[in-house]
Amino acid sequence: MRVRNKPWAKDKLSSYPQYVIENPADHKGKWNQVFGNDNPIHIEVGTGKGRFITEMAKANPTINYIGIELFDSVIVSALDRIIEAEIPNIKLLNVNAVNLREYFAKSDVDRLYLNFSDPWPKKRHEKRRLTYKTFLHLYEDILVDGGEIHFKTDNRGLFEYSLRSFSEYGLLLTFVSLDLHNSDFEGNIMTEYEEKFSLMGQPIYRSEVKFQN
Ligand code: SAM
Repeated sequence: MRVRNKPWAKDKLSSYPQYVIENPADHKGKWNQVFGNDNPIHIEVGTGKGRFITEMAKANPTINYIGIELFDSVIVSALDRIIEAEIPNIKLLNVNAVNLREYFAKSDVDRLYLNFSDPWPKKRHEKRRLTYKTFLHLYEDILVDGGEIHFKTDNRGLFEYSLRSFSEYGLLLTFVSLDLHNSDFEGNIMTEYEEKFSLMGQPIYRSEVKFQN
């Protein structure tokens, strides 16, 4: 995605330590202390501007949410949404998901969302796809046993690839839709990319998979 440089973004993120966790490794294995309760934790990898995770947090106050995004100039928009709505059950991490094991211990996370992940269509970039086997291994290492990945995309190639990758890894497919917006799935919360692509008439693909450990 194209990222507009916002030189002030880092400082703004640092000004809200109640929402943006600067040293996530310090909380590995004890995220319940960060939230002040033992509610389940759901994370989104590649949160972008944060519409999905902030709306999920508002709709589900007994679940704790953590949004993870690489670019400070993007995640700062998620921060604005949280400040505006004063959402207590959400935190943001401005980090690279390849390092998730540094921040989360086994079973710290109950569910993981991937929404409109970058497709990296070239075969030589396969390892960068967030549904590549090394990422699935990473997710398995931080999720509870039987933890789930919920995945949405407009990209048919990435969806087909990901279903194959999930299957080769031994994940159990528990939900699939090839046209989410015309399915009977209830309670869908749209992401920024989802709105953009569905307005262009593209179907939205969605799957849920579960680790069988
Ligand atoms: N989920 C949002 C949505 O649906 O509107 C944003 C989708 S955007 C195409 C993908 C986002 O994932 C980008 O903001 C990108 O910076 C982020 N991202 C990609 N790889 C990442 C990584 N390894 N760690 C953290 N964020 C990542």
